[in-house]
Amino acid sequence: MTEQVECVVVGAGVVGLAVARALALSGREVWVLEAAEGIGTGTSSRNSEVVHAGIYYPAGSLKARFCVQGKHMLYGYCAERGIPHSRLGKLIVAAEPGEVPVLDTIRAKAARNGVDDLEWLDEPDARRLEPALRASAALLSPSTGIVDSHALMLGFQGDTENAGGAVVFHAPVLSGAALPGGGFSLQIGGAEPMELACEVLVNAVGLHAPDIARSIAGIPPETIPRAYFCKGSYYALAARAPFRRLIYPVPEAAGLGVHLTLDLGGQARFGPDVQWVEREEYDVDIRRADGFYAAIRRYWPGLPDGALTPGYAGIRPKISGPDDPAADFVISGPAQHGLGGLVSLFGIESPGLTSAMAIAGHVEGVVNQRNAP
Ligand SMILES: Cc1cc2nc3c(=O)[nH]c(=O)nc-3n(C[C@H](O)[C@H](O)[C@H](O)COP(=O)(O)OP(=O)(O)OC[C@H]3O[C@@H](n4cnc5c(N)ncnc54)[C@H](O)[C@@H]3O)c2cc1C
Repeated sequence: MTEQVECVVVGAGVVGLAVARALALSGREVWVLEAAEGIGTGTSSRNSEVVHAGIYYPAGSLKARFCVQGKHMLYGYCAERGIPHSRLGKLIVAAEPGEVPVLDTIRAKAARNGVDDLEWLDEPDARRLEPALRASAALLSPSTGIVDSHALMLGFQGDTENAGGAVVFHAPVLSGAALPGGGFSLQIGGAEPMELACEVLVNAVGLHAPDIARSIAGIPPETIPRAYFCKGSYYALAARAPFRRLIYPVPEAAGLGVHLTLDLGGQARFGPDVQWVEREEYDVDIRRADGFYAAIRRYWPGLPDGALTPGYAGIRPKISGPDDPAADFVISGPAQHGLGGLVSLFGIESPGLTSAMAIAGHVEGVVNQRNAP
């Protein structure tokens, strides 16, 4: 027998859960189908937990728009719900005089995105704030912070369930088809395989979103991007960090550079670095430590030998390759693929955590036909 439900969101990461919450609060019946045994076991638990300000992204891009909007929504939600977070602020550091002009470019880009609170720090000002730092100049971003992403996801799950939705674990979506009269059928694997029919389908499976899209008959293949995996490893600092704010070098290709972030307990970690990989694997290769020491000592020369220990790794769900210009988020709705009720989320890499509530608001608008698709 085929079960029926109004809306299915595939993937219980931070974005899938935020979308499910928004749909459930709009009065829709929602099931979240998750392959794993719990929420947020994918990229959503393998990131820096930074609430980004919205500084780096090209003006007019979805990343810029959703990051700035999502940051305000997220801080508001965390304050209302008592979700642990902190607006620590961050410094973007020109470690050498030759990097100082890059800070000017970053500041101009940020202003175009509506981030107008960056403060310019000359060397003495930067040193006054963070005495261990080596910087020719720096930008202070006061609205950058950190959040307990698991508590955030639990909040989204709770809201979804309180509004009548359900999160179903051990429910991998294997394949599906667009139905001739509208809606979709899905084949679900796991211990109790089943078939499910729905009117609305949101593909929020992160790294595997292009694979799932390809497995659903009826989606035009030319609307599905190729997936690239870009791994980022972290090293933890064994000692207490000498910094009170997040410390970022000027950005590099494909990532933001090996930066220092702090968790809510004050523990420091460095990363993520950039390593293009062919498959999903999360081992931290200890041979990468030398690269970390070199990158960190550019802005923290006092990093002691032997202070770094391998931490964890995450994989950026990219849709542009190493030699391509960086891709924007892709929210593929009916205007792109021609199928009413289907939204696929592709390339939701950083700042996806920060942007989750804004992406969710947009997807809810597409589904409820308020927003242009
Ligand atoms: C190294 C790194 C650092 C980052 N740092 C930050 C940061 O500091 N700030 C920030 O804003 N963003 C950051 N991001 C980005 C952010 O983590 C992601 O954008 C966000 O977590 C994506 O969430 P998601 O829900 O789209 O995907 P995921 O968290 O990957 O969730 C997808 C879910 O789908 C499930 N799934 C997969 N296949 C199936 C299937 N067939 N059927 C059912 N379920 C399935 C998976 O089990 C998973 O739970 C970072 C990303 C990386 C990789």
